[in-house]
Amino acid sequence: MERFQDKVILITGGGSGLGKATALQVAKEGAILSLVDLNEQGLEETKKEILEIVPNAKIALIKANVANEEEVKAYVQETINQFGKIDGFFNNAGIEGKQNLTEDFGSDEFEKVVDINLNGVFYGMKHVLKVMKEQGSGSIVNTASVGGIRGVGNQSGYAASKHGVVGLTRNSGIEYGQYGVSIKAIAPGAILTPMVEGSLKQMGGENWEEAGKEFVSVNPMKRFGKPEEVGYLVAFLLSDHAGFINAAVVPIDGGQSYK
Ligand code: NAD
Repeated sequence: MERFQDKVILITGGGSGLGKATALQVAKEGAILSLVDLNEQGLEETKKEILEIVPNAKIALIKANVANEEEVKAYVQETINQFGKIDGFFNNAGIEGKQNLTEDFGSDEFEKVVDINLNGVFYGMKHVLKVMKEQGSGSIVNTASVGGIRGVGNQSGYAASKHGVVGLTRNSGIEYGQYGVSIKAIAPGAILTPMVEGSLKQMGGENWEEAGKEFVSVNPMKRFGKPEEVGYLVAFLLSDHAGFINAAVVPIDGGQSYK
């Protein structure tokens, strides 16, 4: 039997990068999908790619802003209306934000990044946990970052938000383990998604691939991670195979966070 047969998996940021790679992976293993993103075109693209591989996949696409609690409530309710339950939740949508020294870091920018990356993850957990507690089962994977477990510099908003995601994961994992619900976070290093490509283009312009080599030279493996490598990990963490992993943060960074 396929690992995600009859399982409903809800993914935010499903229109690009890590969310899309995870959607493709769990769909290949039989999942029913509810994909959330602000970017409708990205969602349609993910659906198209899945249907090319799994022609009979069931996929709901929901446009929502994860930083707006009413829209979060609505995407959770819409998933329940369509599929009746939520077995796995990849709480992943996020932005990188601008880089700057702390004293020059715009307060508006700080609030914007925290609003999406931290408040958005909190709202998602809050409303999905009500469903999972009632079900007596479920797995949540929050997307933190290497920047959520160590300092990287010039990223006050991002660092605060991702350290916050780690805190939420540990706190709620301890609360909900008793209800059969496990909560974990991943801490990716540099993974070559559209988000990272965008920052490299800002840094290096046309020579962005050179800027990329410089960027990964700090990594023990001297390369970017691939989105599908994250997809394999998140699929495992969402599956029943990872049911006893709880309140844990799993790095996927080529060793960068231990250097
Ligand atoms: P990405 O830009 O490719 O994908 C992010 C998706 O989230 C996009 O489709 C975007 O439209 C969506 N999104 C952004 N703000 C949203 C909002 N307010 N509401 C709904 N959707 C929204 O980026 P990615 O690299 O796949 O990033 C996914 C997550 O992984 C983010 O939380 C990011 O911080 C984290 N992360 C990425 C890396 C990396 O190297 N790529 C490293 C560490 C952590």
